[in-house]
Parts: sequence; structure tokens; C-alpha cells
Amino acid sequence: MVRRGVVRGVRAVLEGQIIEVESDLVIVADGAHSRLAHQIGFYNEDPDLVFYGARGYFEGIREMTDMIEFFYFDMFAPSGYTWIFPMSKTKGNVGVFITEGALQRSGMVLNDLFDWWRDNTKFGNIRLGEARLLGEIKGWRLPATWAVRENYSHGVMVAGDAGNMIEAAFGGGQDLAMLAGQAAAETAIEALKQKDYSAEALAPYKQKLLERQTPIYNGYNAARKFLFTNTPDLDRFIDRFAEEAASRDLGFDEALGRFLRG
Ligand SMILES: Cc1cc2nc3c(=O)[nH]c(=O)nc-3n(C[C@H](O)[C@H](O)[C@H](O)COP(=O)(O)OP(=O)(O)OC[C@H]3O[C@@H](n4cnc5c(N)ncnc54)[C@H](O)[C@@H]3O)c2cc1C
Repeated sequence: MVRRGVVRGVRAVLEGQIIEVESDLVIVADGAHSRLAHQIGFYNEDPDLVFYGARGYFEGIREMTDMIEFFYFDMFAPSGYTWIFPMSKTKGNVGVFITEGALQRSGMVLNDLFDWWRDNTKFGNIRLGEARLLGEIKGWRLPATWAVRENYSHGVMVAGDAGNMIEAAFGGGQDLAMLAGQAAAETAIEALKQKDYSAEALAPYKQKLLERQTPIYNGYNAARKFLFTNTPDLDRFIDRFAEEAASRDLGFDEALGRFLRG
């Protein structure tokens, strides 16, 4: 509920009844389809930064190893990838992650990309050529940003997917959402102590996000430059990155950081 430009609580449906919950401060954390973020103008609709992700469980996948696999498609670039998370020698969680813009350029709907990948790419054909889907494919919206954006106003802070906090290279958002939840809670405690819920009093929220999330966004944005372009750049990135990680037995973030600096 917004009164004279100030968020004053939420209106909700409880057991079929519309109720109004008055509050001095609202932390919006209702995910990627957030109606509240939409209402207060924090919803990202940039087709190159809003992704769609879908996953299905498949049995009969061929030639899988015990490694997670990512297959990039550059034909609709800047686009996204297909992933395989192995669950046994032949069963895996297979997914696609693609920008809204690329999905439009492809002329397909999200679920068709699984068949397209199987029928039009070498590895797609090997992995899914004889595989069968278990259950159904489930998809979701994943709104990303390049950087920390405006995400607070008078009486409100927005955290996680509701605040478009997905990173724009791999589509991860759990760590960014948790950092935002922590920053929002800390800021809320101070605001409650001061009994001041104005935008000025909530400004430390953005400052905390800049400090904690910016290094993460910087790494992923730089990775996206290589991952979402043409095949030679992608090959160069993967070769050098893999070499760096393997030679020093590094974790992902450290290997990425060293690669980007080097
Ligand atoms: C297929 C797929 C794969 C992914 N893989 C990864 C991955 O490997 N690594 C990674 O880091 N991230 C991954 N993500 C992204 C990650 O899931 C999200 O970034 C993260 O869950 C965001 O957390 P959140 O709390 O902001 O939102 P959510 O986890 O969506 O939580 C929002 C909550 O709000 C509730 N809610 C919504 N509306 C209302 C309402 N009106 N009233 C009450 N409750 C409401 C919802 O039920 C939900 O529980 C993936 C996403 C998808 C779709």
C-alpha cells in the first residue's frame, strides 16, 4: 500500500479475504514475479537481462561424466546455455537458461529449446538423443542486472529476485539474495532503533549492497562478455579459465578473479 509516495504496508489475500497489513517498513522478497516490486517500479523488463530458466529430469542420457556441463548456444546471441547436472551415470537435471530477447529471436517457446538442442547440436544429440523426460519441465523467470540498482524507497527495501538480483552470466541468485536479506535486516534494525523509515534512513541498504554484491557482479559481468559472444571468444575463455583453475586447484570465484585480472 502506497500513501502519498510512502509504502505503508501490504494488501494481501488471506483465506479468501482481502486484508491490509499496516507497517512502517516493508521488505519485499517475494521472488522473480513480485507484484509488489512491479507496483513500486522496481521490476526489470530489459529483454537482454531478464532470463527464463527451465529444467527437466531425464533418464537415458548418453556419455555423461560426473562433471556439471554447460553448453552455450551462440546462434541467438547474446543468449544463454543448456546445463546438465549429473545424478547418476544416465540420469540428470537438464536445463536451459536464455534471455527473453534471445528466446524471442529463436521464435520458440522455452520448452521447445530442449528438443531444438537435441536435434540441432552435436552434444545435444549425444546427450538427449535416446533420453526420456521424467515428469514435466518446469520454468521460471530470472531477472538479472549488471549492478546494484535502486532498490529502496520511503518505507520499503527490495531483496533477492524481487529486486532483479540474479547475476547475468550463469543465472545464480541464491548468494546475492542472501546477502541482500542480511543487508536489509541490518538496515531495518537501525531504522527501528531510530524510528525513521524514510528513504534517507534506508540509504545504508544500498551502500551495503554496493560493498557486498558489486565484487560478485563485476566477476560475472566480465564472464558474460566471453560467454555470451561468439564461439572463438568463448573457446579462449574456457581454455584459459580451465587451465587457471586446474593448475592451482582453485575454487570458481578465485579462478575467475585471477583469470579476469590476468
Ligand atoms: C531453474 C532454476 C535454476 C536455478 N539455479 C540456481 C543455481 O544453481 N544457483 C543459484 O545461486 N541460483 C539459482 N537459481 C536462482 C535462485 O533460485 C534464486 O535467485 C533465489 O531462489 C532467489 O531467492 P528469493 O528469496 O529472492 O526468491 P524465491 O526463492 O523465489 O522466494 C520467494 C518466496 O516468496 C514467496 N511468495 C511469492 N509471492 C508471495 C505472496 N504473495 N505471499 C507470500 N509469499 C509469497 C514464494 O512462495 C517464495 O517462497 C535458479 C533458478 C531457477 C528458476
